[in-house]
Amino acid sequence: MLVHFEHLPAGGRSFAWQIAEPDGDAECGFAVPLEAQCHVQPTGPDSVEINGQLSGTVILVCDRCLSSYPFKLVSPFRIKALVRDAEQDGPPLDTSVLVENELDDLNVIELDSPSVDLGGLMREQLLLTLPEKKLCRPDCAGLCPQCGTRLDEEVCTCQKKTGHPAFAALAALVGRKTEEDKTDRN
Ligand SMILES: [Zn+2]
Ligand SMILES: [Zn+2]
Repeated sequence: MLVHFEHLPAGGRSFAWQIAEPDGDAECGFAVPLEAQCHVQPTGPDSVEINGQLSGTVILVCDRCLSSYPFKLVSPFRIKALVRDAEQDGPPLDTSVLVENELDDLNVIELDSPSVDLGGLMREQLLLTLPEKKLCRPDCAGLCPQCGTRLDEEVCTCQKKTGHPAFAALAALVGRKTEEDKTDRN
């Protein structure tokens, strides 16, 4: 979905579409298509500001227990897209402006021509929005490294021998209990 700056009215233009399937790069699935929308506002002959949002629910696979779980996307974004000035000698962008913009949550992207690919932009946003660490819940106990039992659902008999953090914490508790017992005896 290529938007040419020269075709934009002064008040900008809004776009809304659906994304039916994730890219190969995106480690997620869609139960239903995602809703993508954005408004492209000209801010000069060679620059636009894009206010967009990607909404919907994606299906992720938990890093620890390998089960699928839904993840709700909340992804409003603001991007300034400007044409790279090929004739300019100095750096194409004032980095001090960049830092300020980053603080302001405004990302700047450079373009080779006065047009922007909204579909590609939205796919990038999806990748940025997906959590780096995918967990079905923050305290997911994961799989038993020995027998593969999903420890949130079932307790296996080999858990005492494993080095899983959850069991280390349990062992520490048991250890403290033993300490207390000793103290009681003294
Ligand atoms: Zn999990
Ligand atoms: Zn086990």
